[in-house]
Amino acid sequence: MTTAATPSPAGHAGPGAFDLVVRAARALTPAGEQAVEIGITDGRIAAVAPLGARLAGGEVLELGGDEVLLPGLVDSHVHVNEPGRTEWEGFASATRAAAAGGVTTIVDMPLNSLPPTTTVENLEVKKARAVGQAFVDVGFWGGAVPGNTADLRPLHDAGVFGFKCFLADSGVPEFGHLESAELRADLAELTAFDGLMIVHAEDPHTLEGAPQEPGRRYADFLASRPAKAESTAIAEVIDAARATGARAHVLHLSDADSLPMIAAARADGVRLTVETCPHYLSLDAEHVPDGATAYKCCPPIRETDNQDRLWQGLLDGVIDVVVTDHSPATADLKEPASGDFAAAWGGVASLQLGLAVVWTEARRRGVPLEQVVGWMSAGPAALVGLGRKGGIAVGKDADLVVFAPEATFVVDPGRLHHKNPVTPYAGRDLTGVVRRTLLRGRTVGDEPEGALLRRG
Ligand SMILES: [Zn+2]
Repeated sequence: MTTAATPSPAGHAGPGAFDLVVRAARALTPAGEQAVEIGITDGRIAAVAPLGARLAGGEVLELGGDEVLLPGLVDSHVHVNEPGRTEWEGFASATRAAAAGGVTTIVDMPLNSLPPTTTVENLEVKKARAVGQAFVDVGFWGGAVPGNTADLRPLHDAGVFGFKCFLADSGVPEFGHLESAELRADLAELTAFDGLMIVHAEDPHTLEGAPQEPGRRYADFLASRPAKAESTAIAEVIDAARATGARAHVLHLSDADSLPMIAAARADGVRLTVETCPHYLSLDAEHVPDGATAYKCCPPIRETDNQDRLWQGLLDGVIDVVVTDHSPATADLKEPASGDFAAAWGGVASLQLGLAVVWTEARRRGVPLEQVVGWMSAGPAALVGLGRKGGIAVGKDADLVVFAPEATFVVDPGRLHHKNPVTPYAGRDLTGVVRRTLLRGRTVGDEPEGALLRRG
């Protein structure tokens, strides 16, 4: 166990001492795993020294023998839903869950809150609700919807990290999807300020042509969201990014068949990045019970062979980051009584569990912790341009996680801070326990001390 942060003996702390010193025999730094002491002042990492350097601190936190110090995770794909659908999730519950899962920064999606974040005015409404409720740092994505091209530049100037668009139905009526010509026009607009477009890539025409068989059978749901819908839409994103020179990011990649096309486009210089999610890396279609709508998300969880190839895509560097797509709804919207996949809300809520889910599977596959943390911390920080996040290094914010990588637990939905703890991971044995999360040098506790972040 972690030794509680304790005041140093008199004489150690004095003028020149750090506010807090963290001592870790194992810490994941940009230079690899090292034994270090970290000096923290005013919430920033002011010194990283070899363990034994005896840095003096007003408080000292010494990690236990089974613990590793990680940089706080950055989750760039979270649906908070407040205001408007606060019964689905809110800033307080989402950010408590984040902290419990080792996530110290979230970037909130522009839907399913009301109003959606498609104008500066709407962004201000959302920020006003987040203030004073956030237990971790929070940034915001803007939304690109039909007719709001002229709002993109002002939103960028107001500090959003980029813009989300859908190429198919978003699931909520107030957030329309872009047609091909609109996608190109918005990407062209973004080149004026090097903005980033993040895309839900499923092709509506392919979806319309797929068999639509409602009911409890997962196989029927999977057939209704074919891999071809993803690959067709991703090809369109690549063409549009290539033609305009804009930066585009593929959200929640599930279809591994698209990986060679993505790799080829990147090799050609197309400015494209890609994410996948814990559920695609740990759950598979063969084991989704019929009627188990907690597993429903779009694009869907596919077969085991597809999952193996997604892992290879990560190891090959074709997939850049792993983020949760935490997308909760109220329990009744998951249609627990009927178990009808067509009627249930699509979305897996996993903000509190993402690290343990991915690490459990990575460990089974022989993938080192350092790589997992890179995909979930430095990777997303780089994606959104948060230079002060995502690493244990001098000058960065002291966002730190005390993690016990060999400790195990069984997922108990009752212990999740998510407002609606519906989860496909209920009862699952996971490896890796978050024992403490520090935000800018302070252990996350009962007071919401998160800040609202701007791009840059
Ligand atoms: Zn999402």
